[in-house]
Amino acid sequence: MLNRRPELPVYHVQPLTVVKGRGVTVYDEAGVEYLDLYGGHAVAASGHCHQRVVRAIVAQAEQLLFYSNAVQMPVRRELCGKLLDFAGGRFTAVFLTNSGAEANEAALTIARLATGRRKIASVTGGFHGRSLLTLSLSGLERYRALTSVAGEPLFAHGVVLPFGDVRAARETIDDSFAAIIVEPVQGLAGCLPLPADYLAALREIADRTGARLIFDEVQCGIGRTGAFFAAEHTGVWPDLISLAKGLAAGFPIGATLVAEHLLPALNAGDLGTTFGGGPLACAAALANLAAIEEEQMIANAREVGAYLIARLTEIRGVARVQGRGLMIGAVLDRPASAVASRLLQEHRILAGTSAVPEVLRLLPPLNLRREHADRFCAALSAVLEKP
Ligand code: PLP
Repeated sequence: MLNRRPELPVYHVQPLTVVKGRGVTVYDEAGVEYLDLYGGHAVAASGHCHQRVVRAIVAQAEQLLFYSNAVQMPVRRELCGKLLDFAGGRFTAVFLTNSGAEANEAALTIARLATGRRKIASVTGGFHGRSLLTLSLSGLERYRALTSVAGEPLFAHGVVLPFGDVRAARETIDDSFAAIIVEPVQGLAGCLPLPADYLAALREIADRTGARLIFDEVQCGIGRTGAFFAAEHTGVWPDLISLAKGLAAGFPIGATLVAEHLLPALNAGDLGTTFGGGPLACAAALANLAAIEEEQMIANAREVGAYLIARLTEIRGVARVQGRGLMIGAVLDRPASAVASRLLQEHRILAGTSAVPEVLRLLPPLNLRREHADRFCAALSAVLEKP
C-alpha cells in the first residue's frame, strides 16, 4: 500500500492544477487565471465550457444518457449528416467512435476490407494514436519502438515513407498496399504541413495502385487550420478522413468519414463500439459545431492565426514559424520545454511542446482574439530576451 499512486505515472505533468475553464482561460484551485494557448491538446475548439455545449450536454443527459448503436437515434443521425455537409458531398457515411486512435483504426480496417491487402504506408513525423496498430504506423521512431519486441515490429506490414519525398513514395507503394495514412498538417511533429504537391502525388499513387488514402485530421481538423478540413487548403481529398479532438470540445468522440466507393466492401458487424456515437457525445458535438459556425470561429482562426504567425516571426529567438490558422509551431533557437515552463510560471500562459525539442506548439481555442495573441507574444519576447 505504501507505493500506491492513484494515477499511473505515464504523463509529464505540469505544475498546475486546473479546476475550471471559460473561453480561452483556465483557472486553478485558488481562482488564478491562465491564458490557454494549448486548448488541452487542440480539444477546446469552441473554447472551454462554451455555454451552448454545456447546456446541450445537460439537456441530453436529462433526456437519455445512453443507448447503443443497436437502435436509431436522431441526434446521432443529425451529427453524421452535419459532418457530411461540412465535406460538401465528398463522403457518404460516418462511423463514430470515442477517440482519434479508434477513428484511425476504423479507417484502416475499412481500407483493408476494401482492398483485401495487408501493407500500410505512413510518413515520417506522423502520429496516429496509441492503439497497437496506430503506434506501429507512427512516423516517430520513439512511438513506433513501443510496439517492437526484440527489434521486431509487432505489425510487420507497415512502411514509413520519408517526409515529402515523392520519388520514394512512387518507388515504394505498389498494388500490395491497402492504405496510405497521413496527417495533412502534422501535429506532434510541430505543426508541420505536408507539401500540397506531395499530397497530390500520394492521391495519384493511391489511384494508380488501388491503395486507399486516409487523412488523419484528428488534430488538424474541425477548423483548426482556418478551414473545416485541412484538406481544403490542398485541393486533395482522401477516401477516408478521421476526426476527433476538437469535435465535441472535450466530450470524447471520434469520427471516420467514408467515401461512397468504399461502402460496398462493408457489412453489418465489420466495425463496432459500445460507446461510440452515444447521445451525449453527439449532442456535445452538434452544439460545438453550431457554436463554431455561428460565431464564425473558422474565419477567426484564419485571421487571428495569420496575425499571430506574423507577430511571432518578429520575435528575437523565434527562428521560424510553421503551421496554419491556429495550429502553429514556433521553432525557437533553444529547447521549447524550458520556455513553456517559464511561460507558465512567470506569465500564467499554457503553451505546448512537440516531438521536435525546439518547437513550441500552439493549439488555442478557435475564438482566440488578437489581444490574447498580443499578450502571448509579449510574454514570449520577455522569456526569450531574459535567459
Ligand atoms: N491522430 C493525431 C494526428 C493525433 O494528434 C492524435 C492524438 O494526439 C491521435 C491521432 C490519437 O487520438 P486519441 O488520443 O484521441 O486516440
